[in-house]
Amino acid sequence: MAEILVLVDHVDGEVKKVTFELLTLARRHGDAAAVWIGPGYEGAKDKLAEYGAAKVYVAADEELTSYVVAPKAELLAQLVADRSPAAVLVAATGEGKEVAGRLAVKIDSGVLTDVVDVADGFVGEHSIFGGAIVAHAKVSKGTPIIAVRPNSTAPEAAPSTPAEEQVSVTLSDAAKAAKVVEKVVQEKGERPELTEAAIVVSGGRGVGGADNFKLIEELADSLGAAVGASRAATDAGWYPHTFQVGQTGKTVSPQLYIAVGISGAIQHRAGMQTSKTIIAINKDPEAPIFELVDYGVVGDLFQVAPQLTEEITKRK
Ligand SMILES: Cc1cc2nc3c(=O)[nH]c(=O)nc-3n(C[C@H](O)[C@H](O)[C@H](O)COP(=O)(O)OP(=O)(O)OC[C@H]3O[C@@H](n4cnc5c(N)ncnc54)[C@H](O)[C@@H]3O)c2cc1C
Repeated sequence: MAEILVLVDHVDGEVKKVTFELLTLARRHGDAAAVWIGPGYEGAKDKLAEYGAAKVYVAADEELTSYVVAPKAELLAQLVADRSPAAVLVAATGEGKEVAGRLAVKIDSGVLTDVVDVADGFVGEHSIFGGAIVAHAKVSKGTPIIAVRPNSTAPEAAPSTPAEEQVSVTLSDAAKAAKVVEKVVQEKGERPELTEAAIVVSGGRGVGGADNFKLIEELADSLGAAVGASRAATDAGWYPHTFQVGQTGKTVSPQLYIAVGISGAIQHRAGMQTSKTIIAINKDPEAPIFELVDYGVVGDLFQVAPQLTEEITKRK
């Protein structure tokens, strides 16, 4: 079977869940060949094997992660030239999409971004115009480069014993144009990262104030979920902007999305519409969010959310 390169998304050796999703997707279309760039591989190799990497290209040179993004594209371009893979999969994160774009220019190929599924023949499925339209697109020139949205594929373990091959690239001066001078680890609590979480509980204007967001947090914590917010809530200063879901915020695609006191404006939908199961709690039965949901609760969130939290907590 043809190799499909999967760029491993990791932070200092800690592999992001999206990588396991990409490996799962790659295995459906060929042999998944993980591409590890930077230090930390030894601590992560078992995880790549667990999710079925048939091969791992290891580029451990620290220099490759000392500059912003460009070296990753140069290494991938060299691998594409040497190994002629059937496709290259990257995570549709800010960095992943930049790598994809740069790689496409280097190898003169087409790129598909924000793909939510990949069908036979590397046809990418896109959810566009706020999720109102599903579009299918195919790269018509060169090796397909596909940036896949985190959480759009359920990761499936398929233990393997991957072959390892050390690889390196001589960086161009252009790739060294922007150097990383400092990395600051963002303080984060116990909750999962918003774009990676399997469950997201978001609050909107209906929550009514910053203090009331503790209801959303408590519900989220009972489910092991991340907390999100509508723009109305973040603009009001009730919750930080980094947690905004939507067109001008984060795009999430969890297994379960619970919208609490959110009307379901098109710009909010754009960031959560591809969630697998959607639940809304809203006191207005005419709220547009109910057009979208799998389950809807018409009721006052100040009554429904605490009851839900209590019931979930009881079952643990
Ligand atoms: C260019 C542009 C970009 C935008 N980007 C984003 C974006 O990224 N993300 C985003 O979210 N928005 C975005 N918006 C804003 C968007 O249009 C909406 O204004 C916003 O999503 C509304 O947030 P909301 O649903 O929380 O508030 P509202 O629309 O005011 O809805 C509040 C809901 O809470 C319900 N409610 C009130 N009290 C209760 C209660 N006690 N119990 C239960 N339900 C209750 C109400 O019935 C109502 O449905 C953008 C707008 C523009 C123009």
